[in-house]
This record gives sequence, structure tokens and C-alpha cells, in this order.
Amino acid sequence: MLTKKKINLRLISQILFFIIIAAITVNHSLAEQGSAVEAVPSASIHAVCPFGGVVSIYRFVTQGSFVQKVHEASFSLMVIVFFSAVLFGPVFCGWVCPFGSFQEWVGKLGRRFFGRRYNSLVPRKADRLLGYLRYLVLVWVVYATAVSAKLVFSTYDPYSALFTFWTSEVQLTAVAILILVILASLFVERPWCKYACPYGALLGLTNLVRPFSIRREPSTCISCGKCDRTCPMNIKVSESTNVRDTRCISCMECTSKSACPVKETVELTAPSPRRSANEAE
Ligand code: SF4
Ligand code: SF4
Repeated sequence: MLTKKKINLRLISQILFFIIIAAITVNHSLAEQGSAVEAVPSASIHAVCPFGGVVSIYRFVTQGSFVQKVHEASFSLMVIVFFSAVLFGPVFCGWVCPFGSFQEWVGKLGRRFFGRRYNSLVPRKADRLLGYLRYLVLVWVVYATAVSAKLVFSTYDPYSALFTFWTSEVQLTAVAILILVILASLFVERPWCKYACPYGALLGLTNLVRPFSIRREPSTCISCGKCDRTCPMNIKVSESTNVRDTRCISCMECTSKSACPVKETVELTAPSPRRSANEAE
């Protein structure tokens, strides 16, 4: 009998963006050797990273120019990512960012070794505290870039190391951090996103205000905890009515269509004036 296979739209989106970024950056190295493929765009990894736009804001506003290595494309990408996040939360992290996807894929190996213990090896309290580290990284990166007008983060950025490790452009510190992230991903899902990524930290703040949010309907919830176990970011969805956790990456893995066994219990919901009024009471 034929069974209907579920189409994993998120996985398709992740693979697609990973391939696009890999093709653009590989073609950039080919272009530097004079053998670029004409039909494929070529740009440095910094030009296709929206975080480059964020760290350039100060210089752009005060001097009208970008910091070293950053490009107008980063600015345009930053604006698109920002508007999608203000409405739906960090969709970029859950559906687009090739480094987030890469960690997730490495994590599948870890899941094979540890089974259900995977991603629950860090005590909850420590996981929470370590989560604040990414805000320290964010403040440091924005400050250091503004005063130096250089892309200081590229020295440490494992995302750029992943897409430039075969070139002379790559920084050894970034490669060391990349190796650490790969090893950590075997135990914890998305360790870089959870504890260190400054862009994830910034986008995560939109969860506090996004109008389209993840909601759990307590009247139909059977408290099976499946949504909690599915959440890559260790959010206790089963204890929230409206997920406002800054770690949410809008991956939708906890929703009724993916994990929750009860239809229409955990869902991405549109803003409703009636619900807001009820909540305000
Ligand atoms: S947190 Fe950072 S590394 Fe993770 S998905 Fe978001 S931007 Fe990418
Ligand atoms: S709460 Fe749901 S949408 Fe948010 S990160 Fe967890 S599984 Fe993904």
C-alpha cells in the first residue's frame, strides 16, 4: 500500500541555502585563481552574511561606509532577515542559516550514539546560564567592530571557517572553534547557536515581541512532553502557553504537524485581538 510521505519543507530550505552559499563561496575562490564559473555568482562569505550588515551599522551611520570586507549585499540581507524576524521570530536560524543546519546535521550522528539522552546532557541550569554568553559575545563584537572598523569577528567565526577552510583567507582560531563546535554538536544540539552566536542572540530578542508566535493550547494538551523533547533549543514548550523564549529559532519542530500528537495543540498562531484582551485580564 502506498503511504503518503511527509515533505520536510524546512530540510529542503536548509539544503537549498547550504548549497547556494557553498556554490557562491567556492566560486569566489575559483574567481581569485581566474577560473570562476560564469553562470554562478561569486562573493566572499562576508558579503553573503547578514551579520556583516549589523556590525556595519555604526560605521555606515557615522561615516557612510561599510567596515572592511562587508558589502551592500550584507545590508540588504540584514534588512530582509530583520523584517521576517520581527514578524515570525528567528526564521533565518531555523530555516536558512547554513551553519545552524550544519550543526543540526552533525547532531544527527550524536543522536545515534546517545539516543534520547542526546541534547539533555547539559544540566538545565547550566544550559540557561551558558545561553547568556551569546549576549556578551554580541556586545563585544558590535563594540570592537565599531571602534576598529574591521570585521574583528572573522578571526573567530566558525561559519566563515566552514566555507573558507581550503583557502588562505581562513583564520586558524576560527578553524579551532569550528572543530570545537563539531565535537560539541555530537553531545548538544546547535551548541554555537545556543551559547555563542551573536546574530542568533540578536534575532532571538524578536521572540519577545513577534506577533506570529508559537502557542500551546492547555485545554487539549495531554502533557506528554513530546514538544519539549523535540525542541532543539531545550525550550519547555509544555510549560508555556505562548512561547516567548529568546532561544526559539522558529523551526516549528514542536508544532502539532511535526511532534505534538494532538491536532491543533501547538501551533504558529496569528495575532488575535480577542486573545490579547484575554491575556491582559
Ligand atoms: S544562532 Fe547563529 S549560527 Fe545558529 S542558526 Fe542563528 S545565525 Fe546561524
Ligand atoms: S519552541 Fe518550537 S519553534 Fe521554537 S525552537 Fe523549540 S521546537 Fe523550534
